[in-house]
Amino acid sequence: MKSFTRKSIVSTILIGSVVAGSAFTTLPFTMNMNPVASAAANSSFTQFLHENAPGRTIKTSGGLATVTNLSSTVVLVNKKRNLPSTYAPQDLVVPNIPFSFSGSSPKKQMRKVAATAIEKLFAAAKKDGIDLKAVSGYRSYATQKSIFDRNASIKGEAVANKTSARPGQSEHQTGLAMDISSASAGYDLQQSFGNTKEGKWLKANAPKYGFIIRYGKDQEKLTGYSYEPWHVRYVGVYIAGEITSQKLTLEQYLERAK
Ligand SMILES: [Zn+2]
Repeated sequence: MKSFTRKSIVSTILIGSVVAGSAFTTLPFTMNMNPVASAAANSSFTQFLHENAPGRTIKTSGGLATVTNLSSTVVLVNKKRNLPSTYAPQDLVVPNIPFSFSGSSPKKQMRKVAATAIEKLFAAAKKDGIDLKAVSGYRSYATQKSIFDRNASIKGEAVANKTSARPGQSEHQTGLAMDISSASAGYDLQQSFGNTKEGKWLKANAPKYGFIIRYGKDQEKLTGYSYEPWHVRYVGVYIAGEITSQKLTLEQYLERAK
């Protein structure tokens, strides 16, 4: 956490630019900028990706590979890359969006930047007559551990590992992910959500607000997870657009950015 100051500044600049220029679809920093500012912004974007490259953001100790760019919007967490058990984001808030359940709960939370973006996503859905509800956002290491342990005791560890994350390996611990469903899918987190009009709308529109469908269809081998049309992950508008249009996983996108 101590070394993230510089990265945070760069990412704040990037997020600010991208959100401010929501019309960006191809190049991130070329609109409304003079050529010098544009070149500088593009080079800080390249620098940002460079600093967040998978090989540069991992340390292994006692056989456990832990990510080091914890507070980055492109932090890569998967079966090979763990968040520390002690990590909790410092800027969690509850977005002002409809949830599938009532009452307060830690799982309503997201990090500030993702919460602001998901409010815009839900507002756009509503405008299009699409009724989405948020089901589950932030999850602590301890909560993930109890979910995994319960699944493993019911289904066996191998099956549990395909459908739920081990503690430290869940994107929900980053505060950048949200599970979304709809009445038409019974507010369940099932692959059938992807065939509903709400699921189709989400897939088509999430990138405009900075989110990717993190575990895509036919990407199981790359992500380690079954298709999850309900799980969106915030990465920022520009990167979400690139990943989606090029049909990449977050792993592939960051790996290219060495
Ligand atoms: Zn999820």
